[in-house]
Amino acid sequence: MSLVHTQQQQRNSARIGMNISTANSRLRKMIMWDLILETDRNWCFRCGKKIKDISDLSIDHKQPWRAADDPKTSFFDLNNIAFSHFSCNTGANGGGGNARKTHCPQGHPLAGDNLRVSTRGYRICRACERAYRQRKYRTKRLSLMAKRKTRAAQNRVVETP
Ligand SMILES: [Zn+2]
Ligand SMILES: [Zn+2]
Repeated sequence: MSLVHTQQQQRNSARIGMNISTANSRLRKMIMWDLILETDRNWCFRCGKKIKDISDLSIDHKQPWRAADDPKTSFFDLNNIAFSHFSCNTGANGGGGNARKTHCPQGHPLAGDNLRVSTRGYRICRACERAYRQRKYRTKRLSLMAKRKTRAAQNRVVETP
């Protein structure tokens, strides 16, 4: 890096009050997140659930590039790229790749009857899926009951002479 370049970088960093390289990579990530949302790609390659926040987004490698015959090719291969939660991406956490993960984040085994593979190729924990559906159903029923109660109360008011 030339001296002029460095000085310019320092000036730019001073202008926005933060390291210009950090700012640039943050901006790139924000642009990417925007496009991800727009194209409905904010689904975790590892757990199959939605990635709800940019802070939870990680760029993941489907096949661990470190162990590939040609790590560089594997690293840059766009077909090998997926998005995942930071917590699900063991590669990002310095681990050895998530494909070998044997349990879901809740500790259910990702095997046998409990394992479902989605059309997108994600491995899904059936126990968690069931729990999620029940939670959703309960919330829906509760709000329905609340609505009915309100309606009943309103009817009562109308019916009183
Ligand atoms: Zn995930
Ligand atoms: Zn589970």
